[in-house]
Amino acid sequence: MADIHANLIGGEWTTSTNASRNINPSDLSDVVGDYAQADAAQTEAAIDAAAAAFPGWAAASPQRRGDILDAAGSAILARKDELGRLLSREEGKTLAEGVGEATRAGQIFKYFAGEALRLSGERLDSTRPGVDVEITREPLGVVGLITPWNFPIAIPAWKIAPALAYGNSVVMKPADAVPGSSWALAEILVQAGLPAGVFNLVMGRGSVVGEAIVASPKVTAISFTGSVSTGRRIGARAFETGKKFQLEMGGKNPLVVLDDADLGTAVGAALNGAFFSTGQRCTASSRLVVTEGIHDRFVAALAEKMQALKVDHALKPGTDIGPVVSSDQLEQDLRYIAIAREEGGRLVTGGERLSRETEGYYLAPALFADTDNSMRINREEVFGPVASVVRVRDYDEALAVANDTEFGLSAGICTTSLKHATHFKRHAQAGMVMVNLPTAGVDPHAPFGGRKGSSYGAREQGSYAREFYTTVKTAYVFGG
Ligand code: NAD
Repeated sequence: MADIHANLIGGEWTTSTNASRNINPSDLSDVVGDYAQADAAQTEAAIDAAAAAFPGWAAASPQRRGDILDAAGSAILARKDELGRLLSREEGKTLAEGVGEATRAGQIFKYFAGEALRLSGERLDSTRPGVDVEITREPLGVVGLITPWNFPIAIPAWKIAPALAYGNSVVMKPADAVPGSSWALAEILVQAGLPAGVFNLVMGRGSVVGEAIVASPKVTAISFTGSVSTGRRIGARAFETGKKFQLEMGGKNPLVVLDDADLGTAVGAALNGAFFSTGQRCTASSRLVVTEGIHDRFVAALAEKMQALKVDHALKPGTDIGPVVSSDQLEQDLRYIAIAREEGGRLVTGGERLSRETEGYYLAPALFADTDNSMRINREEVFGPVASVVRVRDYDEALAVANDTEFGLSAGICTTSLKHATHFKRHAQAGMVMVNLPTAGVDPHAPFGGRKGSSYGAREQGSYAREFYTTVKTAYVFGG
């Protein structure tokens, strides 16, 4: 294969004997590129390079670290159209969504450029005379970052930027389906002047590269985003090998719609939350919990809006919904659509494969009504443009259904009642609560994460990211 995009190991672009072909899910004849697949030995070399580079980077002044992150952020923003196009080509979200995500990645780097300089400590008066107590934060060491395919540039950015800002060195493994955006980020970090070995990119299989990162005693911490099954496995291995770890995993996020909701607001929130980005968001509004008085109007209005959505090539002007990311994911979506039907769900609209000018994984967004919260469609994450409606009597039942899930990432409510909005905000068992907004769509400077089966460990993003990427030291000094 010609022009293989190489891995970045100790500052060198290093090819491998194996490569994987990155194919555009909007057009299976469009090859995004060929990307090297690292093996266990190359992963080990990347970890060694990160370990060797760590002391120098940890000792670099926060101004220097911030300047490099700022330069990377500026480069991402200057190239946002090209990077957005690349990620839409490899992942399938629309160009507008791709450019939006690239912009967000640039802003995240800029934010953490500032955070590098804002890392503060604390001083306490000791209980003992003449003793000072000083609390400081230090970097962890080599951090392993393992990311999913659904946000190919934003999730790598929100892990890489804080890891580097606080003085850690990084070994990063992107998802197999979307190496292109991470490769572009690696190139940008090199051009921004990051010293060799501080950031290493190892593309390849989870079972090879991912396992090697998690098993290595030289890796101090793991930040993982992906599915529940992989996350739990990684968590168990990380614990066994004494690592700090954080896991961001799946969701089955409820959007409650009450009788007193503004219908337009509720339908808009459901449409965006459930189906934008092809429903492939961990925060997607996949369970729509709707009270009796508004139920029929809501379902009819949502179905009408869904039928007007244009599902087509991600780069085509006017496309609202791009393709599903891969044939495996499409199969999974179709399987759950069949399961929901077998369980007695009523398919209101969508759910069928679509043909377009180019061959791709196109699926008409699907809405089920008359579902029960105990059905598999309401308990398991589909991760596609599929949502189901659960009809409930009143707010109390809505809250109980919303919380009746093993997940707890995001929860939303559409209502004009301050009383119900306030109660929901306090009692929803989720890491993030949205009022009159889709369950998806968060700010890059606010903490992100969930509860229950969705997440484990410290929050990501904003100033809260320091909880994971630093370790606290308490020093007692007797000055005499
Ligand atoms: P996945 O779990 O299949 O893969 C995630 C990453 O783990 C990939 O890089 C993969 O190669 C790697 N991996 C796989 N097996 C591994 C192993 N044995 N050891 C180490 N690494 C391994 O997930 P995915 O299909 O890429 O992403 C979809 C999932 O991600 C969904 O469940 C979604 O909800 C979740 N997600 C969660 C959040 C969040 O913040 N909570 C955000 C986005 C996506």
